Amino acid sequence: MDLQKTNVVVIGAGTVGSMALWQLSKREGIDVVGIEQYGRVHSHGSYAGESRVFRTAVHEGGTYVGMIQRSRDLWRELERESGRSIYLEAGCLSIAPEGFPDLVTALGTVQEFGIPHRTLTTEELRREYPQHLVQDGDIGLLDAHGGGLRPEVAVMSALDIAERNGARLLFNTAVLGIEERADGVVVRTTQGSWLADTVVVASGSWSGRLSPELHDLLRLQVLGLTWFMPRDPDAFAPERFPAFLRDSGPVHFFGAPSFDGYAFKACTNPEWPVFRDPSEVPTSHTREELIKIGQRAAELFDGINPEPVRQSVHHCAYTPDRLPVVDVNASGRVVTIAGLSGHGFKFSPRLGEFAAALATGSSPADAGIDPRFALASHLERLAVLGAYTGGGH
Ligand SMILES: Cc1cc2nc3c(=O)[nH]c(=O)nc-3n(C[C@H](O)[C@H](O)[C@H](O)COP(=O)(O)OP(=O)(O)OC[C@H]3O[C@@H](n4cnc5c(N)ncnc54)[C@H](O)[C@@H]3O)c2cc1C
Repeated sequence: MDLQKTNVVVIGAGTVGSMALWQLSKREGIDVVGIEQYGRVHSHGSYAGESRVFRTAVHEGGTYVGMIQRSRDLWRELERESGRSIYLEAGCLSIAPEGFPDLVTALGTVQEFGIPHRTLTTEELRREYPQHLVQDGDIGLLDAHGGGLRPEVAVMSALDIAERNGARLLFNTAVLGIEERADGVVVRTTQGSWLADTVVVASGSWSGRLSPELHDLLRLQVLGLTWFMPRDPDAFAPERFPAFLRDSGPVHFFGAPSFDGYAFKACTNPEWPVFRDPSEVPTSHTREELIKIGQRAAELFDGINPEPVRQSVHHCAYTPDRLPVVDVNASGRVVTIAGLSGHGFKFSPRLGEFAAALATGSSPADAGIDPRFALASHLERLAVLGAYTGGGH
């Protein structure tokens, strides 16, 4: 078998892969190759769909705050290096009944970490954000550093910069398998094979195809996106309408301001089952699902047409407790970053730094990685937790 040689192969040039390639390409003397099964920035990955919510006032707790704050600096750096607009600091507004558990946790987080924010009463919400139809007793938390990210632009920018820095990128090339041997890792692809000192597995929802442990651990949750046309599109522009999370009774909505000038994103998820492989995931909402989502949206937002003007269905790999997998195996040759669990886009630049550190010999502790992210730790918890919770952003 003819083997081409390199220092690091990154498998998957999506969210984590592009950030890993960007970070690795900055390191002197490292030859790096990125291998992607589809083209450069495509519609099949977990990053597709125009925008991602960025929040610093997270209800998931303090573990995430450091990763998100560091990522905020890196998003700005990526904008500077690429000359493109990626991070719209429009704020992120969480609205829920007073005492709603996620809101209480988020309020605790902003206080503990001194995150710039504002709390809003029902009256203030009605006065300042009339686009939201709120119930008596609803309150708001405005996360000043929150907002919207442009995922496709982000991935494109990170790949372009990596390539400019010397990384070699192969598209429409699928990795078929990886195999460790004494002198490195053999990466078999549809276009020949590579021998790398280390590999970074960043293959998202497809990761279970390359590793039996990830096949056991990860489940694919389905996440649908819908966009609605408001009567007054200007009221939903980023200057007037922050990204948002809404909880009203059992209904959870999330979304982003209008980026296209005619529609804004407002999404909620029907009860979809979990899947093992992307090939099993539905590719569209049903008519009934769209009617129901539109009816709920019309109850929450002022003056919108209840028929979604755009819709798409995606998938993302989840771990049971939604902590990501950030791991390097015993030989130090196989780095894995997976299971971003519907909320990992915002801190993916930090994951790119973790990938670069682990792939060039740092230990997880030296790289500042939470020990609970290790694959062995996840597999121990899997036995206890069992069930997978949904949710995203
Ligand atoms: C609809 C939706 C909404 C979301 N909303 C938010 C949000 O608001 N905020 C937030 O922070 N997060 C959000 N998330 C989560 C976040 O977008 C994902 O967790 C993240 O994009 C996953 O990144 P990834 O690198 O693991 O996967 P991907 O970005 O999908 O990258 C994996 C890449 O690997 C490639 N690949 C796979 N297998 C192979 C192979 N064998 N050979 C070569 N290439 C391969 C794939 O083609 C793909 O390009 C959302 C997710 C979804 C789906």
